[in-house]
Amino acid sequence: MYRKNAWIKNKDNIDQVMKFAEGYKDFITYGKTERLVTKEAVASLEKAGYKDAKKLSSIKAGDKVYFVNKNKNVAAYIIGKRPIREGIRVLGAHIDSPRLDFKEHPIYQKNDFALADTHYYGGIKKYQWVTIPLALHGVICKKDGEKVEVNIGEDPKDPIVGITDLLIHLSADQMQKSLAKGIEGEDLDVSLGSIPVDEKEKDAVKANVLRIIKEKYGVEEEDFLSAEIEVVPAGPARDYGLDRSMIAGYGHDDRCCAYTSLQALLDVDNLEYTGCCILVDKEEIGSVGATGAQSVFFENTIAKLLELSGDKNPLYGVREVFENSKMLSSDVSAGFDPLYPQVNDPKNAAYFGQGLVINKYTGRGGKGGSNDSNPEFYAFVRKALDEAEVNWQNSELGKVDQGGGGTIAYILGNYNMDVIDAGIPVHNMHAPMEIISKVDLYEAYKGYQAFLKA
Ligand code: MN
Ligand code: MN
Repeated sequence: MYRKNAWIKNKDNIDQVMKFAEGYKDFITYGKTERLVTKEAVASLEKAGYKDAKKLSSIKAGDKVYFVNKNKNVAAYIIGKRPIREGIRVLGAHIDSPRLDFKEHPIYQKNDFALADTHYYGGIKKYQWVTIPLALHGVICKKDGEKVEVNIGEDPKDPIVGITDLLIHLSADQMQKSLAKGIEGEDLDVSLGSIPVDEKEKDAVKANVLRIIKEKYGVEEEDFLSAEIEVVPAGPARDYGLDRSMIAGYGHDDRCCAYTSLQALLDVDNLEYTGCCILVDKEEIGSVGATGAQSVFFENTIAKLLELSGDKNPLYGVREVFENSKMLSSDVSAGFDPLYPQVNDPKNAAYFGQGLVINKYTGRGGKGGSNDSNPEFYAFVRKALDEAEVNWQNSELGKVDQGGGGTIAYILGNYNMDVIDAGIPVHNMHAPMEIISKVDLYEAYKGYQAFLKA
């Protein structure tokens, strides 16, 4: 079902499309960080009968297992009827999203305000992050081994925080600057308080804020050194548009593909080839590090599966598994925006309502850094989607030399795996409020399921 409107196809199935979106809205409303998404994913996996692979001594066809890496990265598998060495079907999505992170020494006082210094994470248009309600999520790790979970700004009774911007009345100089320079990265500091409780105390406002934090969480200022506090948009995901066809929320990139990939795996059974959903961290900063797509974690999980299935040489076997595997890199695409048509080639753009988006390549400036899939594999994917009557479309990320971007596709491609990007079109990508279409979310779920069965 190439380039057909998915609302038309689903006109007798609207309740199902809307219901699926409700589950997703709950998922991103709770899952504001990679840690929270991991927690939620593990809870769903366990509820569906998946077992922690570390606790098993053998596996056989039909078994469902998962691995968790450092609380931020998950790999889940349904063991297929064929030997794992014949290859697996992978759905890979990332669960980190652009945001602002507290610095190691964040809290300071200036002119009777307590503020928190941040460093932004991922590619953001900085001016979008001021004068909006923000929440704080994360963990503070104490030297004694205790880990404190922070969550401020989501409960309607909680306070929120935020970042100020100049009033228009005094912005004569600022308004002459470019969008890139109007708000500087070093000025993305979060307001935390303004009451100087004991005026004789040095930095009394900051001291008061630290007292509040200590009362609530039992931590000292120095404990922020070993903390991970993420500043993210506060509040729940909401229906968007008078017809409720869309969802406004934070972190669609790439939690909409993570949710649909995970749900696809949870809702299939009796697979011919082993099915996998891997959710990775750090994509927005280059996929490097222990919990990113470039980590050996994924290889280790495959080696472990081979060992559990009785394979005599699991370490070499990993190479063979990868070479025989096929993957959809489940990541979002730039949705065609009627207000900015000039950045796209309209015949090769992703439209809201047309379903799952296939990107043969991403990259920038002559496909630089892109995975650029083989047409043999693309044909395999087309067949799987068309046979399952999934609405899908193709896209490239903007017209030639307009910009670009990347996903995790090339990383798995480097293992000699067949990989292609397949995701959901997004408006306002990387903004605090991103938008997707409910029907694209639903068709992506259907498409991922079709791929697992192919
Ligand atoms: Mn992404
Ligand atoms: Mn992104």
